[in-house]
Amino acid sequence: MPSTGIQTKESALNLLAKRHEPFQEIINRFGLLLCRQAELRTELPLANIHGVTVDEGRFLGGEALVSFVDSEVFAAALKAAALRVWPVTGVIFPALAESLTDLGRKLDADPAWTSLCLKVVVHGEGEALDLAAGQAAVSPDFLLMALRAAYGPCIAANRPALLALAPAKLWRNPHCPVCGSDPDLAVLENHPDPSEFLISKSGELWHHCPVCAHRWRFVRMICPGCGNQEHERITRFSLPDSPREHIYACEDCHQYLPCLDLVESSENVDFDLAALGLVHLDAVAQSRGYFPLSPAPWTAMGIAQKQAKAS
Ligand SMILES: [Zn+2]
Ligand SMILES: [Zn+2]
Repeated sequence: MPSTGIQTKESALNLLAKRHEPFQEIINRFGLLLCRQAELRTELPLANIHGVTVDEGRFLGGEALVSFVDSEVFAAALKAAALRVWPVTGVIFPALAESLTDLGRKLDADPAWTSLCLKVVVHGEGEALDLAAGQAAVSPDFLLMALRAAYGPCIAANRPALLALAPAKLWRNPHCPVCGSDPDLAVLENHPDPSEFLISKSGELWHHCPVCAHRWRFVRMICPGCGNQEHERITRFSLPDSPREHIYACEDCHQYLPCLDLVESSENVDFDLAALGLVHLDAVAQSRGYFPLSPAPWTAMGIAQKQAKAS
């Protein structure tokens, strides 16, 4: 019997948890959340982006597609997603359950607050975050974590429509062309072009967005954090038992990005779960004093959990 996407995700998670026993709990908990988010992508109301125009020059200069869209168009989707994501988050992290229930009520009852929250997630407005956190009596970090968990599936659901607005294939910036987030994973892979006789053995570098799940091509051997191009100032390391999984860390800005080398692999990778499967490398990189380019929720959640309790 063919398996559904969710069953495939569950077996992929079981494999990861077995492979990385010390990180089993993190993998199981966040895996559940990632599965729920992926499931939601096809079930949310779509935003009305009819009439949105994207300035090609500004887009190719690095302005993500969402910056051309009124944040209000995601209101219905954000509410629907929060209703489905936050209860699961509360079950996985019981210490957060009460605060998340309160946020859910506020999202339902207070349209002005919802507008602030949309400005936070869609356009990254810091002032709106402080204001919205103050009004809900929670810490800004906790609110941001909660909002992002619900926003991810909303923007992923609208990704095809947004991508149709601009020449996204020409995008060569380190951050996501759709939602502007920093990547959580780089993947080296082959994209055989039928017009080319020779396929580059070293492959192309593709970034993955942890928020909207988009993947786009980026330039190899440039630090996505600060633009450093000096090869000798980019450190690459991996663990002896998994040479295809490594970390690129920059000696200038001390940020790192995990990387999967699939050039000689025919493995079917679930990119929704791939960064979580490299959590053991995050631990090594952070123990060496590097910071993640995109702090994963499994790193941030510990902090958020304490702050939610304290507020
Ligand atoms: Zn994105
Ligand atoms: Zn750097």
